[in-house]
Amino acid sequence: MALTSVEDALSRLLHDVPVTASESVPLAGALDRVLAEDLSAERPQPPFPASAMDGYAVRSADAVSGATLQVIGESRAGARYDGALSAGQAVRIFTGAPVPDGADGILIQENAVASGTNIQVTTGVDAGRYIRPEGLDFAAGDTLLEAGIVMSARKIALAASMNRPALAVRRRPRVAVLSTGDELVPPGGKPGVDQIISSNGIGVSMLVSACGGEPDDRGIAADRIEAIDARLPAPGEADILVLIGGASVGDHDLVQETLVRRGMELDFWRIAMRPGKPLMVGKLDRMHVLGLPGNPVSAMVCGHIFLKPLIHAMLGLPLRDSRVNARLAAPMVQNDERQDYVRATLSRAEDGLVVTPFSRQDSSMLATLAHSDALIIRPPHGPALAAGATVPVLLLDPVQ
Ligand code: AMP
Ligand code: MG
Repeated sequence: MALTSVEDALSRLLHDVPVTASESVPLAGALDRVLAEDLSAERPQPPFPASAMDGYAVRSADAVSGATLQVIGESRAGARYDGALSAGQAVRIFTGAPVPDGADGILIQENAVASGTNIQVTTGVDAGRYIRPEGLDFAAGDTLLEAGIVMSARKIALAASMNRPALAVRRRPRVAVLSTGDELVPPGGKPGVDQIISSNGIGVSMLVSACGGEPDDRGIAADRIEAIDARLPAPGEADILVLIGGASVGDHDLVQETLVRRGMELDFWRIAMRPGKPLMVGKLDRMHVLGLPGNPVSAMVCGHIFLKPLIHAMLGLPLRDSRVNARLAAPMVQNDERQDYVRATLSRAEDGLVVTPFSRQDSSMLATLAHSDALIIRPPHGPALAAGATVPVLLLDPVQ
């Protein structure tokens, strides 16, 4: 079978992905969630003309330099002065307090000298000065936050100012993650002499969290069909099933057979990419099945390239391209027929970003990946490049 290009694989994977239902969460649980409703203001903000300073509410026509005004009361934040101002009068006022009727400017206290119940104006006031008109921030009926946006701390604060205690957000896609391999021991376990520690289960689960999904790490299955089958999620328990390892063509690579026996419709792709040629894609009823290669770098890079957009599609987020251009710090050899994702660090120079590829790129080298900032994208058959050439790089952080 010919290798499928990364672009084709992505478009097949992302075609016809249903968006998850919405659920209500309290504001404090809405950080990084995708809003599932339009939010409109019911009340203007501020709901009344408010003072922006501490000082005196005055009639600007009266409050000319040298004038004396009579202070008839006080307006505080939370407790307005109930009457109206007449000629020659002022009301003591504080930041956030309602401006009394009849006043059209705020004389800041630095520009007045108080004596008894009178003040003398030292610098005159222009009409409208230091008054926040009703609705300055937003008006009643304004749609301030639209369905589909990702809620940040600032946007949650805005929702709060609209008097919303809870928000409708997209349910996080549930992603079951199952590692396979007789050689694997969980972190903190006691590896036998021929065993290694499983890093992919937690790595992929954390990638799922960072992308807005809800991971369900189902541990490690031995390389036996029954062992893998026993750890699969029940129907309806997951939106996506990610299997790690056992996806290539070795004698002990049983993931595909196990899933096909379960009834998975296989769309098996060998992808023209490095790292990560053996990627399995299929569907088991409504659950998307993604088989990632076991090599830790392959699993994580394929997670970035395929799993992240799949989760984002389920959240209704647009496919985002986190590519930037950078200048190569070192030459690169000609590429072969597979799209290459080269682990690299980024730094900032005066005239832009500089990217430095790691000299060794084996797909088992997790330490290199962990210290990478970006992946240099080398297209199939890309020519040799000299140092200083501009290349597209995929940023690894932030993943959203
Ligand atoms: P496989 O895809 O099962 O042939 O695995 C390819 C390589 O990745 C082998 O060297 C495995 O030991 C390694 N590997 C598979 N799964 C994991 C895992 N969960 N954590 C770390 N290494 C793994
Ligand atoms: Mg294996």
